[in-house]
Amino acid sequence: MYVERHPTFLRKWVIGFVAIAALLVGGGGTLIAWGDLLPEMGKGVLLWGLLGAVLMLSVAMSLAPYRIRCPRCGEATQTRRDAPELPERFSAHCRRCQTLWDLGLGIGD
Ligand SMILES: [Zn+2]
Repeated sequence: MYVERHPTFLRKWVIGFVAIAALLVGGGGTLIAWGDLLPEMGKGVLLWGLLGAVLMLSVAMSLAPYRIRCPRCGEATQTRRDAPELPERFSAHCRRCQTLWDLGLGIGD
């Protein structure tokens, strides 16, 4: 069994976090700064659109560690949280390559 760092997972994960933060700060800021100028309808649409987008991103991110494809062969991997080689970390095991991909994400992070 080889242990390797997954090349893209953590980057995508961080981008997801930044996107959520940007949506909240940008959208919330827009509502606070321009809220008085927006019609009630527009405010509602903006608020619900924002909450919907944040919710979808959060769900996608919480599922992301369980839907990893092997970066080498593209095979679906098996997610582990307690692999003896990488305790207390999320890892994805590819059976075809016999590789354990370190996702760079600790349990409870
Ligand atoms: Zn593979």
